Amino acid sequence: MFSARERRNYGQVEVHNDPKRRYPYRLNFYDRPPLEDVTIEEFETFALDRLRVLAGIESSFVRNRTYDELKSVTSAHCKKYLPLAANTAKSVDTDAERRKDHIGHFVLRLAFCRSEELRRRFLKAETTLFRVRFDEDDSKERESFLKTKEMNWIDVTDEEKSMYRDQLMAACDFTKEKLAAERFVKVRWTRVPDLVEKRRVFLKQGMAWVPSSQQSSIVFQAFQSSLEEALKATSKHFSRLDEDTRIVPLLDNLSRGFLAGVPSEWSDATSNPSGDEIKAEMVDDLARKYFPMCMRHLHDELKKDRHLKHFGRLQYGLFLKVLGLSIDEAITFWRRSFSNMTDDKFNKEYKYNIRHSYGLEGKRANYPAKSCLQILQSQPSSQDSHGCPYRHFSPDNLQAALLAAYQTQGLSTSDMPEIMHAVKSGHYHVACTRVFEITHAAVGIKKGEGVGGGESVTHPNEYAARSRELEKAKAKEAEEIMLVE
Ligand code: SF4
Repeated sequence: MFSARERRNYGQVEVHNDPKRRYPYRLNFYDRPPLEDVTIEEFETFALDRLRVLAGIESSFVRNRTYDELKSVTSAHCKKYLPLAANTAKSVDTDAERRKDHIGHFVLRLAFCRSEELRRRFLKAETTLFRVRFDEDDSKERESFLKTKEMNWIDVTDEEKSMYRDQLMAACDFTKEKLAAERFVKVRWTRVPDLVEKRRVFLKQGMAWVPSSQQSSIVFQAFQSSLEEALKATSKHFSRLDEDTRIVPLLDNLSRGFLAGVPSEWSDATSNPSGDEIKAEMVDDLARKYFPMCMRHLHDELKKDRHLKHFGRLQYGLFLKVLGLSIDEAITFWRRSFSNMTDDKFNKEYKYNIRHSYGLEGKRANYPAKSCLQILQSQPSSQDSHGCPYRHFSPDNLQAALLAAYQTQGLSTSDMPEIMHAVKSGHYHVACTRVFEITHAAVGIKKGEGVGGGESVTHPNEYAARSRELEKAKAKEAEEIMLVE
């Protein structure tokens, strides 16, 4: 990752090859950059996996989840994408896990140091991730880790404690017994602004007296301040990377993913788990029941105008392909939909493109369906129908379209403020996920559950596949109950 010159610049950093010395703890302040070779593949995949966890944290903020809810969603994401076992774990390659965590953090630091907005969002998400891990850490390991950090706090002596006993009890809301059991440390009050703001510490001569039960505030603040400074320093040096044609496009892609909300992780391979064949005449019914707003809109426009412009056909056609529409059924579907057109015109101007998107013409590539990230980044004109309605519609049009599409599935005007709040803060996929939850409440989906395990929608085919899956499971359950009765 670093050139020989950069390694020399970091000469004061000790590089350990012994895993136990390189990563002795699960927690990391990321105060040392990785000074080893990293393949381009690792560079990208480690960062993408970390980005998924951070995007989940951002979604939790937008969705006003409580800290406990956020913690359980983040832990589930960490388990899936970024596991970090404690030293006591048996048969786990903790070195590989910690190396991934370390490198992923530094790649994202490079990607997100470049604007004030990105730095702010990254800082907030990373500090939250650190907090979740800190809270879940093995207490002995956490204590040993903290001993290796210079927290620069001063211990409060027993004499000082008894001298200010009343003030400490009042500030911390402690009983006499609780006070006797607590240890206190003194730090500059600026290092615990959250405790000062909530008036939960005793202040004297510019120092805050922090009880041991609240010392995590000092740790989080120290983590945040050091990362904030490091991000600013990295942004100053970023121009040195500007000419690297392998890395800069990757970093651009990562930061765009974060700004658009979420990287796409859903794979086409799971699009049609039941393997059902979809017939052209079924699409209308499927669109009404299972499609997300982007595809629902394209379907309605196609029915209304009996035509779709190029990018609309591309977005919708690939979605239907991945949904399970075979090439023959796709030709039937588009031919019927373009009902104002002669056979001759259809065959000459449209059939080739449909076959092309199935990899049967031209360079015969198997084109995947577009993810939310790609759709969110498209730039439709006012004449176009493609794009993501949550991003590309005006607020009034979006609300009217949502109610027209989903009112029969339980969406109501009272849901709009929450959905529009996510839209206004630029978290379009969170708004789409909330609509998914509301319209699938009847099949057992609860608020915060998303498309499964608290995950947000990242792909229109994921939305449709999950929707169909839920309905099938419900129908099967009803069937079983009937058989028992
Ligand atoms: Fe479609 Fe994704 Fe937008 Fe939902 S968030 S409407 S699935 S592009």
